[in-house]
Amino acid sequence: MPDRNSPDPARILSQSLGALSGVGPRVQSRLQKLGLETIEDALYHLPHRYEDRRQLKTIRQLTDGSHEVFKGTVLASGEVRTKRTSRRIFEVIVGDDSGTISLKWFRYRKSWLEKRFFIGQTAIFIGDVKRFGVTREVHHPDSELIEGSDSIELLIRKDPVSFGRIVPVYSLTEGISQKQMRTIWFALIRDYAEYLSATTPENIRKKYNLLDRYTAIRQIHWPDYHADLKELEEGRNIARKSLVFDEFFYLEVGLGLKRAGVQLEQGTAMPCEHRYTLPLSKMLPFKLTAAQRRVLGEIKDDMALPSPMNRLLQGDVGSGKTIVALMAALIAIENKFQVAVVAPTEILAEQHFRTFAPWLERLGLTCCLLQGSTNQSEKKKIYAQIAAGEINLVAGTHAILQEGVEFQRLGLGIIDEQHRFGVRQRSILKTKGSHPDILVMTATPIPRTLSMTLYGDLSVSVIDELPPGRKPVTTTIIHQRNRAKAHELILKQMELGRQSYVIYPLVEESEKSDLQAATKAAEYFSALFPEKQVGLVHGKMKTTVREAVMSDFRDGKVSLLVSTTVVEVGVDVPNATLMVIEHADRFGLAQLHQLRGRVGRGAEQSYCLLIPSENYSDDAAKRLNVMLKTEDGFKIAEADLEIRGPGDFLGTRQAGLPDFRVANLTRDLSILETARKEAFDYVDQTNRLHSEEAQKVRQELICRWGSRLELASVG
Ligand code: ADP
Ligand code: MG
Repeated sequence: MPDRNSPDPARILSQSLGALSGVGPRVQSRLQKLGLETIEDALYHLPHRYEDRRQLKTIRQLTDGSHEVFKGTVLASGEVRTKRTSRRIFEVIVGDDSGTISLKWFRYRKSWLEKRFFIGQTAIFIGDVKRFGVTREVHHPDSELIEGSDSIELLIRKDPVSFGRIVPVYSLTEGISQKQMRTIWFALIRDYAEYLSATTPENIRKKYNLLDRYTAIRQIHWPDYHADLKELEEGRNIARKSLVFDEFFYLEVGLGLKRAGVQLEQGTAMPCEHRYTLPLSKMLPFKLTAAQRRVLGEIKDDMALPSPMNRLLQGDVGSGKTIVALMAALIAIENKFQVAVVAPTEILAEQHFRTFAPWLERLGLTCCLLQGSTNQSEKKKIYAQIAAGEINLVAGTHAILQEGVEFQRLGLGIIDEQHRFGVRQRSILKTKGSHPDILVMTATPIPRTLSMTLYGDLSVSVIDELPPGRKPVTTTIIHQRNRAKAHELILKQMELGRQSYVIYPLVEESEKSDLQAATKAAEYFSALFPEKQVGLVHGKMKTTVREAVMSDFRDGKVSLLVSTTVVEVGVDVPNATLMVIEHADRFGLAQLHQLRGRVGRGAEQSYCLLIPSENYSDDAAKRLNVMLKTEDGFKIAEADLEIRGPGDFLGTRQAGLPDFRVANLTRDLSILETARKEAFDYVDQTNRLHSEEAQKVRQELICRWGSRLELASVG
């Protein structure tokens, strides 16, 4: 029982489930399998559907084709064989005063069914009623045994939790029955829901006719007698909407605070001095595109301000983000600051280093490469040089974020392929300097509303134009039986002196066989094209070996690169004109788009061949078709969102955002927008939650997201 004298609802809600009546150690460990640890978790374990038990129908009244709840007494029970297929099934005939119905099990434990449904046993049955000729059947019904053969009125009086109302149905775990769950949850809501006090401020709730959390939670678990069942089932009821709003509101207050806090932080003004940027733009073999210039202008303006920059640079694969990053780096260096460029993989870090180093050298500047595989003594040397300020730019992997790395004066942190990192990495990078500017880059286009949620505290720049002269990549699906066509095209590209990729997926369960497939393919192509060099790279290789092959490919010595997905992001070899993707059905859309983006980088016509497995799913077919239809990263992202749903799409966990307990990002987008507006206004009006009335919201916010949104720094 809750301690009603305790003034601290947060403590009560965070108690373990063992505190509940009916939950002993065994039940508790079973509930843990559902991810439920605390009282609060349990309050948010919402029913996934409902059963209308306000009235119980007689067997005669049951409607064919609908989901029904009815009472019956077992008249016959046992294993039988079907007439046509002679398969064993278990059948129970139940009846009441009005008629009979047959219940069937096709997969079952015989002893359990025999014991449960002996003749004369009465039970409540729940399931879909189907008609087969003259008989009506329910297959695999749920059931709850009841004692005696009470009338429905008596049942309702004896067990008001289970009868005479709309009853919640919860997702279950092994060893807990629906009835047990219902009983525990009934007590839970009765005794604990009231501690869910802190909630969206009342004036905002009033404005949108929302319920407070206590009422909303109660109504979702135990709907009123006259509640609209359809609305409930479809999640359109006001109780659910209120909880969704509440969730979004706190998320957006957090983001709003962060944004306001960041604006107030004292950073350093770094005006563009043109000392290095101008010479670089003269040395470049191309002119920046209009989009690159516009984005660079936005970055320059940000950097010139005394508050720290927090900017997201979005641009499709091949749109030329790297050179923009280099320009930004030079501005920081002009202002006597150091720059860190962090990439998700060693291959990418090396590539950045190779791109940056020659330019920096020509400008009389220094840079180095720092990654996990850098040997210990080399690392020590680099650490010292970075700390002494002898190095202007460090490119590397997360090795840069390690503790030993200290900058003399870090002014700008650049994170490439942001989606591979979490919010945490961004904040670690910030601690390496005193409020340095941060530029994060991503080639994963995110529909605008979602990017607002995910990167709500960042300003966004978009490169929406590709460098000139790019020809669209010709994309074709090639089925296994026609794979000779792929070989012809590889051969043709080789004869033209161009290079090709052949990519194999690397999915964990089948890691070995994929590796074998890639290795075999490399051998096969070597034999097929004896005069040409065929290279193989995969994740299990030593970095040095892999790097050697990659650089041979970059230098044109290797004509055909067989690879597992390690080339997915960022690799830039303009002479590569053919991308062959084996088992293309096993890749996600974002990956396919990234892979295809490896070709079509030069002036020549490029090709992408998608070779699916023998059998593939409908979703895979949809993905492949999207690839045929468009090369536009934003359109692909939108299609991806549609096929996969947002949770998966965003990988919220990976991005550092909490999973929503009730809200659903696709379905509830309009609520999100309202909540965001109200939350940002609230942050303004309460002087960033410093006003008296906002203290409860502040408490609740820290309690909910706390460290995950780096609120600590907002204080
Ligand atoms: P991404 O945005 O995918 O990181 P990169 O920065 O790797 O793209 O650029 C892809 C290629 O385009 C590189 O070879 C780069 O040198 C080239 N490039 C970048 N900007 C331009 C431009 N304005 N004109 C011509 N080529 C460009
Ligand atoms: Mg890139």
